[in-house]
Formats: sequence, structure tokens, C-alpha cells
Amino acid sequence: MAPAPSSSASSARIIDGKAIAAEVTGRVRRETERLRAETGVRPGLAVVLVGEDPASQVYVRNKGRTADEMGFHSVQHTLAAATSEADLLALVGRLNADPAIHGILVQMPLPAQIRSTAVIEAILPEKDVDGLNPVNAGRLAGGLAEKALVPCTPAGCLVLLRRTLGDTLAGREAVVVGRSNLVGKPVAQLLLNENCTVTIAHSRTRDLPAVVRRGEIVVAAVGRPEMVRGDWVREGATVIDVGINRIAAPEKGEGATRLVGDVAYAEVVRRAAWITPVPGGVGPMTIAMLMANTLIAACRSVGRPGPVF
Ligand code: NAP
Repeated sequence: MAPAPSSSASSARIIDGKAIAAEVTGRVRRETERLRAETGVRPGLAVVLVGEDPASQVYVRNKGRTADEMGFHSVQHTLAAATSEADLLALVGRLNADPAIHGILVQMPLPAQIRSTAVIEAILPEKDVDGLNPVNAGRLAGGLAEKALVPCTPAGCLVLLRRTLGDTLAGREAVVVGRSNLVGKPVAQLLLNENCTVTIAHSRTRDLPAVVRRGEIVVAAVGRPEMVRGDWVREGATVIDVGINRIAAPEKGEGATRLVGDVAYAEVVRRAAWITPVPGGVGPMTIAMLMANTLIAACRSVGRPGPVF
């Protein structure tokens, strides 16, 4: 648990996602070596990219590079944008059957002719390192997170909160803004498992500022640049900003852009006790937790529980 900010502080302490992600990946590397030494099993991650979306290409490259750094067996499958759903499902089937592969990640979004739900449901739950298969979502919802593979970004949010607040999460008021299957819902489930009192807010929530003000913990996963304002946040809250939004930055020159979160950082930093920056907060945790999930999947394949992060 990080030391609490001093009472004289007029601005929040920064939750350093880069440093905490480096701690996680350092442990994954060590545990990977240990697993290999003790069982001969080397975690294997297959990343599948369909099409040529430039952002997806960057994500997939980063995932492959980080997997190599972990000492994993790492493979990438790049398929043409016109690939049929049947062909992608056939590849998933081969990866499901491949004993050298413990984690399968199909990069989203997929081209229109492929149903993402069909692909997500085809991945074996024990190899579903994105944690999106209904079996994993159901285990998490059933309070069995230790048997599930938990989606990477929500799992990363929880690690940030545990590192910051230690084992004081129980009983806290947590407000999650956003209810997507990818982020909002699993974050809320994780916080409920930690015995927080959880409110899930969304686009139909009445008086959102008043709801957010209840939160000792606020997780913003909305996709709207700087939506959560300073006066929405109670003094001393811990704020996790999942949003990644690219906006125009004319101050940096014509056509320039910059990344901002879903939280108005400059305002909220004056009210909160702790806050994640964008970039450098939740973002680095997502890839670190993908590595953690792949290691956990490999450990479970030989009957070991895998480390808890
Ligand atoms: P999403 O699927 O679009 O879901 C957005 C959620 O926000 C929905 O539940 C929506 O409510 C709610 N919402 C939209 N407008 C709102 C408003 N005005 N007031 C209150 N709630 C509102 O997005 P997502 O996939 O969860 O992602 C959320 C953000 O996180 C995005 O900025 C995304 O880029 C970022 N992200 C970051 C990472 C990372 O690695 N750091 C990973 C994943 C996502 P309804 O359900 O009512 O429509």
C-alpha cells in the first residue's frame, strides 16, 4: 500500500501505472522462468489480427513484443480483412487444440462480416486471456474470480487500487461510470468481490455528478473526453481514469492531437487524494495483465493456481 498523501497536500498523488505495470511484468518474467524450470511448461500466447487497422497493428505488435520479453512462446497470426468467419473460427479451433498455446487473443474490432460474439464464444474459456467468454464473465459474476480469467483492463484497475489503498477496499463506496462488458461491468464485479459498495452509472443515470460525488473510489470508463469534472468528485477520492480519447491540440500546432482521459485531470487532481494520469495510468496495466493472464492460464494447465497480482 502506498503512503497516504499528507493532509496539507493541495493536489492528488499520482498513481504511477507505468511503474506498477513494470512490477507486474517483472513478476510474470520471474514466475515464467520458475514454471519452466519446475514443469518444462513455457507459457504460449497467440495473438490474431484480422485486417490492417493501424491502431490494432500497434496493439498487436506491442503485445507480441512484451510476450517475447516475458520469455513466452509468442505467435502472431495476421489474416486478410476479407477473411470469413468460418476461416477465423477454424484458426481458433486449431489454437484451442494446440498444447503449446495457453492464451488466445483475437484483436477487436473485427471486420463487419465476422460476429465478434461467435469468435469470443469459440475460444476455450481456459485460453480466453481477454476474459470475455461468457464462462469467464459468469465465473467473475458468481464471485469466482480465482477460477476465471478476468478481462485485462479491469484486472489492471484492481491492481492499481490494491497497490494504492492496500487491503482497505472493503466497505468503501465505489462508483463505476460505464457498464460495458469489456470494462465497466467487470470492474464493478471485481470491486463487489472486494466488498466495496458499488454503484454502476451509465448514460441513463439521473444527476450523474451527484452519483459520482458519492464515490470514495471512482472508476471512469465512458469514452467521453474529460467528462468527469472537478466538482463531481468528493475530496479525498481515489480516481481511476480508464478513458483514452484523442482530441485536437491546436496549442501544439496545426493538426496536432493529444490524449486525454474521461476525467478532467487538471480539475480533479485538486480534489482527489489519488489519481491515474492519461497516458501512464491504466493503459500500461492492460498489457501487463494480459501477460499475467497468459502465465495464469499456463499454470492452470498443469494444475497450479497461478500467482495472484
Ligand atoms: P463503451 O463500450 O463505449 O462503453 C461506454 C459506457 O459509458 C457505456 O456503458 C455508456 O452507457 C457509458 N456512457 C456513455 N456516455 C455517457 C454519459 N454521457 N454519461 C454516463 N455514461 C455514459 O466503452 P468501453 O469499451 O467501456 O471503454 C470506455 C473508455 O475506456 C474508452 O475511452 C476506451 O478507449 C477506454 N479503454 C481503455 C483501455 C485501456 O487499456 N486503458 C481499455 C479499454 C477501453 P450506456 O451503456 O448507457 O450506453
